[in-house]
Parts: sequence; C-alpha cells; structure tokens
Amino acid sequence: MKMCAAMFHGPQDLTLEECEIPTISDDEILVKIRASTTCGTDRKLYLRKEKKYPSYFKPPSIFGHEVAGDIYKIGKNVEGYKIGQPVFVHDSAPCLKCYYCKIGRHSLCDNITWNWGTWTEFLRVPKEIIQCGNLIPIPDGLDYAEAALTEPLSCVLMGVERSNIGLGDVVVINGAGPIGLFWTNLVRNKGAKIIQTDLSNERLQIAKKLGADVILNPNEEEDIIESVKEYTDEHRGADIAVEAIGYPKTWETTIKMARKGGTVTLFGGPPPTSSISINTSLLHYNELKLLGVFHTTPRYVQASINLLANKKIDTDVFISEKVKLDDLDKIIDNLVNQKGIKTAIIP
Ligand SMILES: [Zn+2]
Ligand SMILES: [Zn+2]
Repeated sequence: MKMCAAMFHGPQDLTLEECEIPTISDDEILVKIRASTTCGTDRKLYLRKEKKYPSYFKPPSIFGHEVAGDIYKIGKNVEGYKIGQPVFVHDSAPCLKCYYCKIGRHSLCDNITWNWGTWTEFLRVPKEIIQCGNLIPIPDGLDYAEAALTEPLSCVLMGVERSNIGLGDVVVINGAGPIGLFWTNLVRNKGAKIIQTDLSNERLQIAKKLGADVILNPNEEEDIIESVKEYTDEHRGADIAVEAIGYPKTWETTIKMARKGGTVTLFGGPPPTSSISINTSLLHYNELKLLGVFHTTPRYVQASINLLANKKIDTDVFISEKVKLDDLDKIIDNLVNQKGIKTAIIP
C-alpha cells in the first residue's frame, strides 16, 4: 500500500511523492495522521543553505514533526491502546536508561529516539515513544490540529518552568513567532509583565492580543536594549530576558536586556556551529544567570496536553489555517513567508 508524503531532499527541495506505508513490529503502533502543524524549526531546515542538519533530521526524509491522528494498527505486544483512538504522537523519546535519564534530565539523554516525518498519511510509532509515555490519547474537546501543538508547547513549558518566573516579574520576550507567542501565553498565565519584540508589526499585534503589555519593533527603535529598559523600574532591565528566535546576534542583545542578577533564557536554537561573545563583567559583576534550554521531557509533554485540554492556550491564535497536504505549494508559501502563525496540514 502506498501513501502520499512531502519528501525533503535538500535545501528548498521538498516534493510530494508516493511511498510505502510503514510496516510495524510487534512492539509498535501505526497511526493514521489527521493533522500535522508547521513550525519555525521546519522553516529553518527548509531554508538552511549548508547541508548540515541536527542529529534528529537525516535527509532524504519525510518532512514535519508535530502531529496527531488515530491509531490504525497495534503490534501484538502493545497494551493500553485501542484501534481508532485519537492520539498525539510526540517527536522523540528519551532512553530512560542513560545517566541523564536517571538524574531526570531527559532532554539531555545520550540516546534520544527521534521520529520525524509527519507531512504524510501514516506514521510508525517506535516502542521507545510508547514506553516513555509520549503517545498520548487526546482528551475530549481537543481537535487533531490543537493536539499537535503539544510538542512545541511542551518545549516552551519547560523553558518557562526553568526560568522561575514570579508574579510581577518583568519578562522581555524577543521574538513573536509561534514559539515566542507560546511564551507570551504561558508567561501571561504566570502574572508577569511582558515586553515583546519582533520585526513584524502584524505578529506584535497578535502578541498584544495574547497578553503582551508592551510591544516594540527593533526597526522602529533607536536602541532596542534602551527601549526595553525604559519599561522596567529605575531603568534596571528585565528580571527575565528570553530569546525565542535562534540568532546569535539576538542572543547577544537579549543578554544585555537583563537586570543585574537576572536570568537570560536562551531558547531559540541557532545553527550548531555558531558562537556568541559576552562581556565578562555581565557574568561576573552583574551575576547574570545564562540558561540554555533544549527540547522537552515526557513530564512536560503530559503537562502540555493537559494545559491544552484545560483551555489555557488560545489555540485559535496559533492555528491560522488548515491546508490539504496536496496543496504543498501553499503550505511552503505560508511557511517560508511566515504567513499566519502555524498551518495545519490535513492529509
Ligand atoms: Zn516544532
Ligand atoms: Zn537517556
């Protein structure tokens, strides 16, 4: 049996192709995909000029990684699931055996199983994803596209929790793409004051609607660092400064926006070979805390689908449009030209 898939071959080379429906072992599950959502990581990978990719992505490969669907086939050793059951499938699983898994730092796992390739009709779910609890029945009241948001939301949720944001803190969020906007939604729930920056005024308006108190476009400010500080008491800088874009230059700017003793959460992922420079006095005399955050853990994945089910996330803001997989040109156009926030791809 064949299925239709968006196959990635290299920089800006994504085509619709027919390929075999995956077969499964006795320990695996096959899911019929109902919705997959686009994401900033997809955009970066699609546009990246050098053919160097992170460990989780090995072209030629079916594109995409945020997904929900129905259980279609169950291996005979798997218990606890039913045919036809709606599920969210996370894109990775920690091994639960290495040093980092044992100390509860699952995002640092030495043997992460990745499971990309969701812009298609069927998805094989490896046993590691089932065993760590990252194949989750969709709670009532969530549709497939909303459930697919569990993946990016779980990453942001871990970033927000690690940043220790308190009531009344001033948080600057640099970036108002899908990830930056999840930050807005979650930080708003924490009762903090939000200053948000982005180069797109359209996206800044969405940030405002989601709960940003101050919106600033760096292109319209003389000095974005000074402008951010103006909205903090005594011009001291933000309690927490977040980078949600993934450019080395914005990492450097973000570090300069934090107050003495503040926390800088470097969340956006720049290309693996890039580096930044920091004035040492910011770390020493100003006692800044620099916090790197990568990916997520099963605990945050579960918490994230619960938040979605409890309607704590304005999902209609995040899913701008639903497009059939056949219309790949339109999906790519939305992704590359950042039209809307996320496109839900319906096979
Ligand atoms: Zn994503
Ligand atoms: Zn591990």
